[in-house]
Amino acid sequence: MTTSIPEPRRPRDSCPVLAGVIGPPASGKTTLTRELAVLTRAPVISPRSAIRAARLAHPAATAAFEPVNELGWVSDVALGFALRHTLAAQPAGTSLVLLENLPGDVVQLLDLHLHVSRLDARLVLLVLDADDEVLASRAAGRRVCQTCEQDPTADPHAPAATQRADPARCAGCGQPLTSRTDDATDVLRHRTRRHRAYTEPLLRLAATLGAVVVLDAHLPTSALVPLALHALGAESAPMPQRESPSEPPMPSGEPPVPAATTGRVHPRNEQP
Ligand SMILES: [Zn+2]
Repeated sequence: MTTSIPEPRRPRDSCPVLAGVIGPPASGKTTLTRELAVLTRAPVISPRSAIRAARLAHPAATAAFEPVNELGWVSDVALGFALRHTLAAQPAGTSLVLLENLPGDVVQLLDLHLHVSRLDARLVLLVLDADDEVLASRAAGRRVCQTCEQDPTADPHAPAATQRADPARCAGCGQPLTSRTDDATDVLRHRTRRHRAYTEPLLRLAATLGAVVVLDAHLPTSALVPLALHALGAESAPMPQRESPSEPPMPSGEPPVPAATTGRVHPRNEQP
């Protein structure tokens, strides 16, 4: 199969590296992305954050960002727009953008490839993977905090830090932690199956378009970070601080969103 992609060259000094961090559910994408964001001060764009930013920027088009399936995902067309919208909003001179859980399919990959081609930038895919049993065991153990992660639908996703003395409680606020709703066994199995189905053609195409770096998700984050930094060409050259450093705990490529303005539905497209 041959894929032909237009490559208009328009050298600019913004965004030299776009790094997609993908992998099946519970492979450690969020944790790795967080670490990389802290070390490089790069903005993070996730499907959630991109959709939220696009909805806020275009309130008249809210209906286009309604979920289209039982997992709460929006349409590929809407997600594609949201991603382009958020990438276009990155300040000139941004040297690295981290894409958590993106691209999710071949069309998103082609979009990103076109984007980096126009910017004279580079696309790197960091692919985390591990056995299904390992992933299921990790998903069963991960916890979120309803208090610290302000989510308008009470459906937090970010891994919470646990208290040393009482791992059932949040290290930040002391409240009891809960499991993610989409980590329920049946839902997780569904998500993992979908991920595998969509990822196979994506990785085949990615191998012809740009750098694909497969990382063994069995490794601890401390071992994965240097490998990822090396792949991004950032291991010995810390990124300069930007004017608006990311806010802990989850740096984002968009401004903070007031909970009251985000509406009822909180789409959460991830690796399909
Ligand atoms: Zn908390």
